[in-house]
This record gives sequence, C-alpha cells and structure tokens, in this order.
Amino acid sequence: MITDLFIDGEWRPGSDGKRFDVIDPADLSVVAQFAVASEKDCMDAVDAAAAAQPTWAATAPRERSELLRKAYEILTDEVEVFAEIMVRENGKSWSDAMGEAGYAKEFFRWFAEEAVRVPGDYRLSPAGDKRIIVDRSPIGVSLLITPWNFPAAMATRKLAPALAAGCTTILKPARETPLTAAYVVDVLRRAGVPDGVVNLVTPVPTGPLVKAMIDRPEVRKLSFTGSTEVGRDLLHACADSVVSTSMELGGNAPLIVLPGADLDEAVEGALLAKMRNGGSACTAANRFYVHDSVHDEFVSRMTDALAKVKVGSGLDRANGLGALVSVAERDKVASLVAGAVDEGATLQLGGNASADGAFYDATLLTGVTHGSTITTTEIFGPVTAIVRFDDVDEAVRMANDTEFGLMAYVFGEERAAVAVARRLEAGMVAVNRGVVSDPAAPFGGVKQSGLGREGSSEGILEFLEEKYIALTA
Ligand code: NAD
Repeated sequence: MITDLFIDGEWRPGSDGKRFDVIDPADLSVVAQFAVASEKDCMDAVDAAAAAQPTWAATAPRERSELLRKAYEILTDEVEVFAEIMVRENGKSWSDAMGEAGYAKEFFRWFAEEAVRVPGDYRLSPAGDKRIIVDRSPIGVSLLITPWNFPAAMATRKLAPALAAGCTTILKPARETPLTAAYVVDVLRRAGVPDGVVNLVTPVPTGPLVKAMIDRPEVRKLSFTGSTEVGRDLLHACADSVVSTSMELGGNAPLIVLPGADLDEAVEGALLAKMRNGGSACTAANRFYVHDSVHDEFVSRMTDALAKVKVGSGLDRANGLGALVSVAERDKVASLVAGAVDEGATLQLGGNASADGAFYDATLLTGVTHGSTITTTEIFGPVTAIVRFDDVDEAVRMANDTEFGLMAYVFGEERAAVAVARRLEAGMVAVNRGVVSDPAAPFGGVKQSGLGREGSSEGILEFLEEKYIALTA
C-alpha cells in the first residue's frame, strides 16, 4: 500500500518526517502509517499544480480523454485490489466496497467521454451587427477535499471532471482513508498523467493548512465534499480570495411511504436507501415517514429483513454490514439511538455496539417523534427511525422541515409519488427506487446541502469558466 504524499509526479514522505496511523475499524489494528503533509509540502503541491496548469490546459482534449479511459481500464482490471483497500481502512462490507469501486471507476469513463464534448456557443446580437462567441476554458488549479465514507468515488467524481476540463489538481483525502486516495492517484500516474497535474497531500493541522492553500492566488477552485459545518467554514475562507466553490454537504433524507405503496418495492428500496454503505451515506434515508395504513406491515417486513443482515468484517464476503469508520462514529450512533429511546421511541431491533471493533447492529426504532434529535441529526449508521403519519400534506411538511436538501425518497403509486416528489425540497428525489447515484445524472443538493452539481454533463462545467469573445458581424 502507498503511504506517501504525491507531489510533482513523485511519491515522497512528508518534509518533517511525521506520520499518522490509519486504523482498520474492524479490529482496531494499525493498517499503515501515512505521511503527514507539512506547510512546505502543501505549498510545493500548489507550486507543482500551478507550474503544470498552462501545459495541461493546452493538452488536446482527446489526450486527456484517453488518459482517463486508461485509468478506468486499470481500475477495471484491479477492481478487487481497489475494493480491498477500501474495506481495510473504511470498514465497509465487501459488497459495498465492490459497489463503490464500480461506481468510482465509472467517473473516469464518463468524463473521458465528456472531455471531448465541452460545449461552446455562437450567437448573433439581436441587432444583427455583432457576433458573440462563448468560449469555455479550465478554471485553473483545483483543490479537491473528500470525506471518508466514499473514499474512492468522492475522489474520482472530482478528479475526473477536473482533469477532463484541463485543470491541475491537489487532492486532500480524509485522514481516516488516505490509502484509497493514494491508490487512485497512483492509477492516474500509471495511466500517464504528467508531473504536477495530480498531487496528493494530507495536511496536519488540516484547517490552517487548507486555508493556506486556498489563500494562494494560483488556487482558483475548491471542490469540497463533507459536512455542512466544515463546508460553511471553507466558504468563508474562499470568500477572501473569491475562489469558486462546489459544495457537496450533509444530508437528512426523508423517506416517505404513501398509502397504496407496493410494500415489496418499498421494503426493497428502503433497505437499499438505509443500509447501502452501512448507512454512512449523505444520501442515506435518515427519517422514515410511513402512512398509518401500511405502517405495521412495513415495520414487520423491515424488521425481518434487517434481522437477517450479518454483521462483521468486510474481508468476509458473507457479511452484509461492515464496521463504522471509527469507534467515535460507532459511539455517536449508539448515543443517538439511546437518545431516541429517551425521547419516547421504541427499540424494535438491534441497538448493540460491539466492544472489539467499530460495529453496530442493524437497528430499527418505531414511535419516533418528528423533531426529536434522531430526526434532526445525520445518523450516518444502520439505524431505521420510523415516524407514523396519517396526512400526506403533513408528511410533506415534516420532510421539508430541515435546513438540508440533498436527497429524498418516495414510495407509492407512481402518479401520487411523483406529485409528492415535486413538492420536496431536495436536489434529488428517488421515486420507488432505493439508490440514485449514477455518473450520468447531476448529483447535488439544495438549501444547506450544497452548491453545484457533480457527475453528468453539469459536472465538468464546475471546472470551466466562460469567456465572451466579442466580434463584429
Ligand atoms: P468532514 O466535513 O468532517 O470532513 C470532510 C473533509 O474535510 C475531510 O477530508 C476532512 O479532513 C476535511 N476537513 C475537516 N475539517 C476541515 C477544516 N477545518 N478545513 C478543511 N478541511 C477540513 O466530513 P466527514 O466526517 O469526512 O464526512 C461525512 C460528511 O460528509 C457527512 O456530513 C456527509 O453527509 C457528507 N458527505 C456529503 C456528500 C455529498 O455528496 N453531499 C457525499 C459524502 C459525504
């Protein structure tokens, strides 16, 4: 496994020789000791990206495209290696890791195709006497900051459009999961990315050193995925030098089961919406609103299905639910469940944390009150919290009663479900489906869940800026 920084085309230890432990959350052992990036290393990464920017921007789109395609092919050949690194440092189950590996590599393929299709525009002025050309060029050096929950896909969802657009990059992964990021960067190196075009740093202390990079005038873009709290701070930091931002922030997704919903479909979708990635997903269904008429049957089927989920190390492919990323996350989930019970909910299933790894059982709570802490906090774990409702307007009001707006799910007869979907304040709404993530679709949130979109044809536009060239007719 690679445990160093990548700066100007070279793997190297941190300039002050320090390292931090990467922990396997399944058994709490040390998987690796990763290099700490000092301020000098961060500045070297900005220098390298800035030096490489003009040449990379001038590279033929076809060349950038083929490099991304090559990276996609390497990841396809090595998909199990890729998945295993994720399991070791993140704790996720084997099927979640393979699912993420498949999703992550698709961004390289998708943006290999988008690199050669950047749109421009040509217009005649309304008076017919002028020509207006709208040209698009790479925004410049881009700082990419990713979270630990999808350590591969969040990196490729940023690296691929940035590289396709002609931007050079500095990737800063989460401290919990640097090994997956280092592996992805090495795949790009092997695919032939020129020196300085992709750099990887893991700065400590994080906040001040990220701010120091943002303050460098060469850095023109921050693409961040993480919590709303950190995103807000970074928006302030970017304001000082008017750096362009894309923000994929926290979620608090409602999942509504309407009267008349097909319960086979609803339970299957709800299991995916809740349990994918062990519930550690910004898109995870966080609050279930289930209509009175289907409530008891839905609860009974969900309880039966969740009781069958096998918990344990992701290296054992038979386990359906892996570990949470850390003991701190496990304890946070346990305290949310205990708090929900104190606030009047009933524990129907689960509620157990393991002592020798960061495991938490699949858990189901009923009688949850809308507005209680578990419905206003991003759980980020395998806990289904069910609120009963009897009026659809009230369900819509409760679903929208949050500062977040990333994802929402509706299950019901299609016309009724689409009518509700239209009323939900979210960047993405799934109707009778449990997973929406798709490289070909625009991913992103409204309200305090973010700014901008990733993936799709919109994703590359985040790394391009428009130039108007004025001509005579
Ligand atoms: P986090 O905000 O704690 O960390 C995200 C990244 O920011 C990490 O790389 C971290 O090291 C870095 N960071 C932390 N403090 C920083 C600071 N002061 N300055 C600069 N960088 C800093 O989030 P997390 O705990 O790693 O991930 C979970 C969060 O990410 C959840 O809220 C989840 O909803 C969100 N998320 C959102 C999406 C999305 O697409 N909207 C996707 C995945 C995760």
